[in-house]
Amino acid sequence: MAEKIRAAEIICVGTELLLGDIVNTNAAYISGKLAKLGIPVYRETSVGDNPERLKAAIADAYSRVDTVIFCGGLGPTDDDLTKETVSEYFGLGLELNAEAEERIVKFFETVCRHMTVNNIKQAMIPSGATVFQNDFGTAPGIGIERTVGGEIKQAVLLPGPPSELHPLWESKVEPYLAERSNGIIVSHNIHLIGIGESAVGEMMKERMKSDNPTVAPYCNEGECRLRVSAFAPDYAKADEMSRAVVDEIKSTELGDYIYGIDCENGEKALVAELRAEKLTLAVAESCTGGLLAKRITDVPGCSDVFLGGFVTYCNDAKMKLLGVSADTLDKFDAVSAETAAEMAAGARRALGADMGLSTTGIAGPGGGTAEKPVGTVFVAVSYKDKVYVRRLRISPTKTREQIRSIAATSLFGLSMAVLGKLRASLQDLTVFNM
Ligand code: ATP
Repeated sequence: MAEKIRAAEIICVGTELLLGDIVNTNAAYISGKLAKLGIPVYRETSVGDNPERLKAAIADAYSRVDTVIFCGGLGPTDDDLTKETVSEYFGLGLELNAEAEERIVKFFETVCRHMTVNNIKQAMIPSGATVFQNDFGTAPGIGIERTVGGEIKQAVLLPGPPSELHPLWESKVEPYLAERSNGIIVSHNIHLIGIGESAVGEMMKERMKSDNPTVAPYCNEGECRLRVSAFAPDYAKADEMSRAVVDEIKSTELGDYIYGIDCENGEKALVAELRAEKLTLAVAESCTGGLLAKRITDVPGCSDVFLGGFVTYCNDAKMKLLGVSADTLDKFDAVSAETAAEMAAGARRALGADMGLSTTGIAGPGGGTAEKPVGTVFVAVSYKDKVYVRRLRISPTKTREQIRSIAATSLFGLSMAVLGKLRASLQDLTVFNM
């Protein structure tokens, strides 16, 4: 029976990683996959193509954990040393693997390229190791389980190119490691709008101290996500444990800001809600310049709810396309609650939609005034006989792109609140009857 893994580390081999020539996406990929398998990861190390330093990194990693996942350095050239160095650590010789050799020969025939003698180096496998044949390249992956210094140690060696590593992982390495894992981690994501990271952190302070399930916040640009992860011997138990915490959080004060569970983002949640309620949507945008429509149309299948939108940047366009009155623009300005309200109602009216959304504001970097500094955005939702407008005061230190993104996100939150799907109070709004 396969030996269970206690904890793992990742060693990525390649001088190009240390020179900054390539981004270490393999480490992130492998870490994410190990987390899902319930295998704790203690460290990630990048090391150049240098046998002595690699040797030291290997000994160092195995002093902390029983398993190391290696990636890179399985190529045919002399500086590809991972397999040789790891084999030395395990005290294993290399043997020719007939199937790997045959695959390499075939690979070169298929791509009509000349095979050099050193390509066969890739078919040399540490004796007794498990071979993960590679359908997308020439270097097979390798699994080693062996006693070193009286303890069972494990290693998995993978080729560097992500186009080879990913399919190899999915098809062969994952089942191999799942058999060696003590359990599984199941995560559920709680999505929140209208509350900042520090407030979430404060409310979750006690909960975040728990080791299992863990609760971790991730916040950016107007949205927060709380990831609840539970570790248990099987999926059903881990799922039950993480869902119990999700339910508990829903019943707290934080529950008022939750717009969805495992729903990815605000636009997806809104489209799903509108579809469920058989409602249609139209948008009118000024400062977001089409971002709102873009994000809604990023959701596949949104055509059954989204009718269309208007990008009305100048006052004339606001009047001609949306019917915003000259009086309103004159009296309150283009960046005002009144204009936002008329824009949302105008878009809805023009397209015959059930709900209309609008944005108007100052995305910067210029254009701010003392009364309406950069980051002032009015977002509005027209629904039934009312228009709900919120004035956002986004920090002027944010970039133009961030301000637009926060405005769009907050509008998804306001729409969900208007539909009664986000308990967060509808206070701090100007409400127009129109
Ligand atoms: P090959 O048979 O292609 O030589 P290899 O296992 O020897 O495979 P490397 O030579 O170390 O792999 O890397 C080959 C390429 O794979 C790199 O040039 C890079 O594009 C990609 N790669 C390697 N390591 C990583 C990494 N950690 N993250 C992302 N990409 C990587």
